[in-house]
Amino acid sequence: MSAKEILKMGNPLLREVAEDFSIEEIKSSETKELIKDMWDSLEAAGGIGLAAPQIGISKQLAVIRLSEESERYPDMEDSEAFVIFNPKITVMDETEQGFWEGCLSVPGLRGFVERPRGIRVDFLDENAEPKSIEIEDFLATVFQHELDHLIGKLYIDRMKDIGTLMFEDQMIFEEIEEEFVD
Ligand code: ZN
Repeated sequence: MSAKEILKMGNPLLREVAEDFSIEEIKSSETKELIKDMWDSLEAAGGIGLAAPQIGISKQLAVIRLSEESERYPDMEDSEAFVIFNPKITVMDETEQGFWEGCLSVPGLRGFVERPRGIRVDFLDENAEPKSIEIEDFLATVFQHELDHLIGKLYIDRMKDIGTLMFEDQMIFEEIEEEFVD
């Protein structure tokens, strides 16, 4: 287990545009270790997605896995475990959908964010094979949130109404029907 400390908003590294991986780098043993650290860090933090800059590595890598067992997101269904290098997003359905997003780098807070509901993501997987997936709904928001970390963006930058930024322990959950993300 080598969970890393997760950087918080204010750390300048979270605002950098992360660098691409080369094919050789993706296949290196160093990167295999990094992927393990990412999963360990995500599990330790109880999140559903993590980008490499959040553990201090300014490189184009994110991992995402929705888990039914998550305590933070009780209604979620399991997803595949995604390891994503050098992603490119194409919007397929511009219809905006909103969720209350949270972020391991912005602990304790949630904010309402609207994003396109359907996207295609082209990326390289952990074997450096090109992949293209089309996703929608909640998973599309999770991908957009995580991949934003690779271009130095946080969800608060995407909020239209900063008045919806709230501390989790002050939110009245019964009145909020949308799912959460992080
Ligand atoms: Zn985040």
